[in-house]
Amino acid sequence: LEQKIKQANLQHAQQTTNSNKRIVVVGGRGKLGSLFVRLFTELGHSVSVFEQQDWNNAQQIVEHADLVVVSVPINLTSSVIKQLVGYLSAETILADLTSVKAQPLADMLEYHAGPVVGLHPMFGPDVPDIHDQVVAYCDGRTPQQYQWLLDSLALLGAKLTKVTAESHDKSMAFIQVMRHFSTFVYGLHLQQENPKITDLISLSSPIYRLELAMVGRLFAQDSQLYADIIYSNPANFQLLKRFAERFNEGIQLLESGDKALFKQEFADVRRWFGDYAEHFLKESRVMLEAAHHYSEL
Ligand code: NAD
Repeated sequence: LEQKIKQANLQHAQQTTNSNKRIVVVGGRGKLGSLFVRLFTELGHSVSVFEQQDWNNAQQIVEHADLVVVSVPINLTSSVIKQLVGYLSAETILADLTSVKAQPLADMLEYHAGPVVGLHPMFGPDVPDIHDQVVAYCDGRTPQQYQWLLDSLALLGAKLTKVTAESHDKSMAFIQVMRHFSTFVYGLHLQQENPKITDLISLSSPIYRLELAMVGRLFAQDSQLYADIIYSNPANFQLLKRFAERFNEGIQLLESGDKALFKQEFADVRRWFGDYAEHFLKESRVMLEAAHHYSEL
């Protein structure tokens, strides 16, 4: 049934959106790029891939494009945008899928005179479809020109969230940089302490197994992507340093033996979460039930 609903939604999306646009995905053989090539193709657009070896034919590939989407590694994004814009017509929409937004958006606006939009799909390439997945977007120039692009992602079920590039990058410091960095350190700590992983797994009920899986899955992915995200903005290093200081303060608290103070700080954090603490307890219970069901399959 779920499959039928998705098929019906896709047909609806094809009929409703302005389909059969000419779209070029720069980095379209990459992990995220190839997902977007598939999504745009499913929507009925004619999609071309532009890869590293295609620069000699750049003019030919992009000159009639309605939309060019940049999906190359973060550290190459600025130089690729600068190289690309010389071949674009002023009507072509220029977009990117980069995990950071301020610099790529500024580059696109500075070098391309036509419509510009920054996108950040908040998911990895391993999702089967983008239903319920968040896509953050940052308006660049002439939004009415690229409204069809946002509409088609919405029709595929994505949750479009409008945000300024600066606010996006500030939130990502917590959602991605801090999370990935602490997961990296957690993994490093495990590797260096070297417990037997099979012992940890056999003693882990679903919640602990899920937590271990969330750490382990980072190391199954691309170190370049995570390095680029974590290193992308030196301003984030200060945030990470404060995080490390709080760890040390936490250790001092333990060594002081002051459990009353621990409980007081625990209560302060609970107050900060407000109603979300209770909400997250319920939500995670549902997720754990699903995880438990999955592990029984
Ligand atoms: P990737 O390394 O898998 O793909 C990058 C692609 O760009 C490759 O196919 C590569 O050949 C191509 N490329 C490199 N240099 C090029 C050049 N000079 N000209 C043309 N093509 C070139 O990387 P990815 O993980 O798909 O990430 C791509 C972008 O998507 C990044 O900006 C990243 O921040 C963003 N993103 C990735 C994920 C993810 O989970 N992978 C999630 C959200 C956003």
